[in-house]
Amino acid sequence: MADFVFNVSRLLGQQPGAQRAEAVEAPCAVMKVPELIKPVLGTARMTRIENAILVSGNMRSTVRVPCARCDCDVDVDVEFELADQFVPVGSDLSEENQQYLADCWRLDKRHNLDLIEVLAEGVVSAIPPFAACDQGCRVSELEEETSGPRIDPRFEPLYKIRQDMFPKDLKDEG
Ligand SMILES: [Zn+2]
Repeated sequence: MADFVFNVSRLLGQQPGAQRAEAVEAPCAVMKVPELIKPVLGTARMTRIENAILVSGNMRSTVRVPCARCDCDVDVDVEFELADQFVPVGSDLSEENQQYLADCWRLDKRHNLDLIEVLAEGVVSAIPPFAACDQGCRVSELEEETSGPRIDPRFEPLYKIRQDMFPKDLKDEG
């Protein structure tokens, strides 16, 4: 079995509080997160709780995203915590339970606990929105052109004429 799917039949048969820890390794190829460049690694602690299996633990990986300043590739280490509940298929669907179950993941019929989706969610939420590379990069050339008041030397005479003709116009700009 892959290192991100665990059979919890035994744990389900145990008393609340029973625990089990498993090493997690989810290769990029199985994760539907294009930014991932390394497998997701960590230790998942599975705890039998009243109605479910609680999965907790720290996970880490590396993503490749564009630098917010220069647009080159930046590799960023990401880290996130799991805190997810998995309930058995066919759990008691009394009204009281339904709301609770809506926030839970499902085990499959054989009581396999598949972490792939919670791992993908964790990675996506851990990707920093404005990653920047280390090497004091500069803003992209395009940005620099539009932000500065630099004038193309070839147009300088024209600019001067315009300045004489519409001084007010320029003042508004500056
Ligand atoms: Zn950069």
